[in-house]
Amino acid sequence: MLKKKNLILLFAAMLFLFAACAENEQPAVSGGEVAAENKTAEDITPGIYVFYNEEKNAYLSAEGRKLILSETPQNWVIKENCNKKFHIYAENTELLLDIDNAFINEGTEIKIWEFTGYDVQTWNIEANNNSAYSVLCGADNSFCLGFGEGAQLQKRDKGNLSQEWKLIRVADLEKNYYSCSSSGGIIELQLPLDITEVISEERIADWAENLEKAYYTFYELTNHKPYETIVVEAYKPAQYIGYVYPNSNVIHIDCDFIREDLEKMTLRESDWNFCALHEMGHMFDFDMPWNFEAEAMTDLKVAYVLEVNGVSAVPSEFDASYNFYGKNIMEAYGMLGSDFSKTYNVYACVRRFLEIKEEIGWEPFVKTFHYLKENESEYSDLSGSQKFENFIDLLSLYSGSYIRNEFSQSEWQCIIDAAFK
Ligand SMILES: [Zn+2]
Repeated sequence: MLKKKNLILLFAAMLFLFAACAENEQPAVSGGEVAAENKTAEDITPGIYVFYNEEKNAYLSAEGRKLILSETPQNWVIKENCNKKFHIYAENTELLLDIDNAFINEGTEIKIWEFTGYDVQTWNIEANNNSAYSVLCGADNSFCLGFGEGAQLQKRDKGNLSQEWKLIRVADLEKNYYSCSSSGGIIELQLPLDITEVISEERIADWAENLEKAYYTFYELTNHKPYETIVVEAYKPAQYIGYVYPNSNVIHIDCDFIREDLEKMTLRESDWNFCALHEMGHMFDFDMPWNFEAEAMTDLKVAYVLEVNGVSAVPSEFDASYNFYGKNIMEAYGMLGSDFSKTYNVYACVRRFLEIKEEIGWEPFVKTFHYLKENESEYSDLSGSQKFENFIDLLSLYSGSYIRNEFSQSEWQCIIDAAFK
């Protein structure tokens, strides 16, 4: 279930990804002498704020999903995202400032909406020289939050005070989760507060260390480093067991699921947690020239992480009595997979790749990923099926074996059909 839904998300996300990545960020506020002379207000840091518009003598507020100006102050939660931009949530909701239909244009409505991961939900908050701030569209800093007929995206106009907001800090962000970071600071685990009822603090700390090692192993395999840090946010209910969005360094895992899953993990030796590894693997694939089918690609890379580190992971379909060490993850994929000559099957497809790996070793895979990373721009516009054919041809080149022969014609066609369009 997780897999199918994820795929849909990935498809939608891929469409937007290029635009989001290519966009140039502008510095939030100039420091030094100029700033001091103009009495520029302080840079905003994450916290809970009230937005007050002096000209309108009113507060930014939400009514349903609509933004309004109100006499009553409303609290907004400002959180930093991985690109030094902010997400701005209505307090006590999962809804954040968003541009209607992602349409960056004068007059487009700004509302609150569920998190989508797209850049149109990010904002730069820039200080003006009157101790008020402009809330700039993270996807295009020439636009900002203004009010015309309701809240709307407006071309930034520095003299227009209706676009400027006094930000009054009400409170710091409350940490309502159990937090644990890896020693290198790459991984931050955010777990339910009562998680230590099912797993020891020591084991949690080990897990953070292990995920940091996994991060470096994914990097070693792909030569690609999507983020400097990764947050595993697993302390609240999530729409799926686990998922990631492009352009976001957060792995979302459902809090009830993680409790069950970590309980199983404690009963196994050397288990690095399949769900977290699987989602982390996706992060190393978004928009990359080898990503012909996201689920198979991440599970293939997870197998590399397990084998290279000599550790185990177990897909959530299995109970605590199962454990698959290193290359034995093949067995798990085999048990979950089915014949894919008529209908595509992720696990069976990965299992085939691992059988190929048994013959040629990991080295041709590593070389293939590295080559594609190096020549990323050349291959970035290819369709999934072209990426698949390319991947196989490079594997053939680096292994000296004709890898196409490892698939029957009908299996080949099934992969082509399942690949990103
Ligand atoms: Zn997935």
